[in-house]
Amino acid sequence: MSLATGFTWTNNDISLTGFSIAGITTSVVFSAADVCFDVGQGLPFQIPVRNIAITHGHLDHAAGLPYLLGQKAMHGVPPPNIYLPPTLVPPMKEILRLWSEIEDHTYDYKLEALSPGEERDLKGKYFLRTFPTYHRVASQGYTVYLRKKHLLPEFRGLDHNALGAARRAGKTIDEHFNEAVVSFTGDTKIEVLENEDVRKSRVLVLECTYWDERKTIENAREWGHIHLDEIIPWLDRLTCEKLLLIHSSARYSVAQIHRILEEKIPERHKGRVELFPRNP
Ligand SMILES: [Zn+2]
Ligand SMILES: [Zn+2]
Repeated sequence: MSLATGFTWTNNDISLTGFSIAGITTSVVFSAADVCFDVGQGLPFQIPVRNIAITHGHLDHAAGLPYLLGQKAMHGVPPPNIYLPPTLVPPMKEILRLWSEIEDHTYDYKLEALSPGEERDLKGKYFLRTFPTYHRVASQGYTVYLRKKHLLPEFRGLDHNALGAARRAGKTIDEHFNEAVVSFTGDTKIEVLENEDVRKSRVLVLECTYWDERKTIENAREWGHIHLDEIIPWLDRLTCEKLLLIHSSARYSVAQIHRILEEKIPERHKGRVELFPRNP
C-alpha cells in the first residue's frame, strides 16, 4: 500500500479503497458507484472519482478538497459533484475561492448542500441518500443503494415460457426495489445505528475510534465517537453482511485491535466484523 493507492478491501462483489485512522486521514472510495466518502488531506486514489460525499468538516476528513480539485484540473478529469452538510457549503466555497486565488488556477466543480433524506444519482443504477449522524459539528452519513428488480413472489419458480405468457397477457411480473449496498457513517456517536437502512446495508462502514479501557465509553461520547463496547450489544440487530470498522485511534496497533476483536466479539459474529486495512 502507498498513500497514492490506499488499501483495498473486498468482500464478494463489493470493493472499497481508502485509508482511515482517527485524526490522521479518512477517505474511502466505492468505485463501482463512482463515489468517494470524505477526502482526508487529499490523496491520489481519489482523483478519478466523480462524486465526493463529505460527512463533516473536520480537517482529517475534508481538508483535501482544494488539493483534489487542483489535481483533477491538472489531470483534465471531468469536474466532480461534491455533496456536503448544508452549513459547510458557504465556508468551503470561501476556502476553495482562496486556494484557487493562491494557485492562480480556476477550479471546476459543483458544490451542493444535501440534507438528510435527500438523494442523488451516482454511476449506473447506484444512488446515494444522506442520513443523520451525531458528531461534535454538523455531520451526516451516506447510504449507497442499487436499483434492482426481482420477480413477484407468485411468479418465482416459473419457467421462461410461463413468464413470457404472463408478460404477453399484460401482467406485471416483477417489482423494483432498492438494495442498501454500502453505508458510510463518518464520525458519529452510536445513535447512528438506530437507522434501519444503515443496519441492513450489505457493508456497513462504521467508525470505531476507541477499543479498550484506555478510553471509556464516556470519552467516546464526549468527543462524538464510538467505543467498541457500545457496538457489541447491537451486533444481533445488525443485518449487514460485513461490519467494517474504520477511524481507529492511532494509539491502537493493528495487532492489538485484532486481539481485542478476538477477545470481545461473540463467536457467532466473528468473521462478520472486520477492521478496514491500515498500516500496522
Ligand atoms: Zn475523524
Ligand atoms: Zn470528526
